[in-house]
Order: sequence, then structure tokens, then C-alpha cells
Amino acid sequence: MTAALAAAAGAVGFSHSSLASPTQANSAVNLAALSMGDGQLSELTTLRIERRNLATRDSSRVALTSVEKTKKQASADRTGKARAAKLEATLALTAKRAAALAKAKAQIDQAQKNARESATRCEMVISNYRITATFGQGGGRWARNHTGTDFAAPIGTPIRSVMKGEVVSAEFAGPYGRQVRIRHENGTETWYNHMSKFSVSVGETVYAGDQVGAVGMTGNTTGPHLHFEVRPGGGEPINPIPWLRNHCGLNP
Ligand SMILES: [Zn+2]
Repeated sequence: MTAALAAAAGAVGFSHSSLASPTQANSAVNLAALSMGDGQLSELTTLRIERRNLATRDSSRVALTSVEKTKKQASADRTGKARAAKLEATLALTAKRAAALAKAKAQIDQAQKNARESATRCEMVISNYRITATFGQGGGRWARNHTGTDFAAPIGTPIRSVMKGEVVSAEFAGPYGRQVRIRHENGTETWYNHMSKFSVSVGETVYAGDQVGAVGMTGNTTGPHLHFEVRPGGGEPINPIPWLRNHCGLNP
């Protein structure tokens, strides 16, 4: 390095380590030193170095901006990935919950089905009725004492099976009129009489509350009512009211 250059460098606080390319800077300054006096050289060198410094700062800024962009991009990428992961987790959780919900619903449906099809479940045989004759009642209306309970209700009122069972008869039966007989799992039969229509046929399985027919006036009757009988083992009739209470917890 020439003495003039060293002076110029010293005047602007320039050192090798502060420039990206000191070799370039040196050759430029050296060319100028060949044709200029000390004063001019110093001025030119200052300008050159300032320009270089500016350029360096600019490129630094560009580099910095680029780094920031890269950082921002990386950050955005991380955020995007995090969001995607979170969304995926949420979807997985939602699917898991939906599956659990579906399982629970299926269990409830099965429990309801089991309850509905239970052999011990009871439903009242008719609604909106008035008891007009009780079991064992005597009198001119019957050849023997009354064999069931009479539930008076308007014609067409649904008549329902008291429990699960099999329809063993569905036909016109003389003084009983249109009659349905249902055999329950313990062998007890319930008879539904004087009906206006049949809602079931022989061999069919019915569950508690299933409609078997409707109130009518068929057979030996003076008004629309359900004559309901209970016959253990299909034999002689018993009083339906205590049977309903003891077997079904019903109090007609
Ligand atoms: Zn009767």
C-alpha cells in the first residue's frame, strides 16, 4: 500500500475488515493515485468509499430485508403448519366424538328396543275408558257370572296388547264378537272382544302397546266397549284388575 493511500484510508477511517472486497477498493484507489495529487486523491477516495459504504449498506438492507422475508415466510410456514395440525386434530377429535355419539345412540336404541320387546313390559289395553262391569258380576246380562272387565269407550278407540305375545286367534267368536287372543310367554292368554276390526292376524308377535283392534259392538253387547279377559294357561278366567295390578303395576 502506498503512503498516500494509507493516508487516504486513515482519513476516512477505512480499514480492510470494513469492506466486503478490499482488493477491489485498493485497485480503484491505486489507479487514482497514479494521476492525482494528495488532496484530490483524498477527496476522490472519500467519495468512493462513501459510495461503497452506501452500496454495502444498501445491499445489507436488501440482504436484511431478504432475511426478514425468509424469517417471515418461515414463521408463516410454521403458523400454517401449526394451524393445519390443529385443524387435523380438531377433525380427528370431532370424528372420535361423532363415533362415540353414534355408539352411545346405538346403545340407547338397542336398550329402547330391548325395553320395547321385553316380555315383562306392560301397557294399558285401552285409554279414555270407563269401567262399566267388573269380573264375577252376576245378573241377567250373562249366562254365567261376568268373565272379564268391561271398558266402555267410543267405537274405534284403539285396543292394545297388554304384554308381548303371539296372536293365537283372530276371528269372530259368537257372543264375543270379533275376538283376538294373545298368548304371553308365561302361558297366560288375554282376550280382547266385541271389536269393530282386527289389527293383527294369527301367528303374529305383538309387543306391549301394539294395537290389536278397535272398540266395537260385535257379538253380545248393548254398547261399545272392550270386554277384556285374562286366562292363566289358557284355562279359566280370573279377575283382570288384580292381575293388571300384580303383573303390570297398572291400576285401571
Ligand atoms: Zn264384558
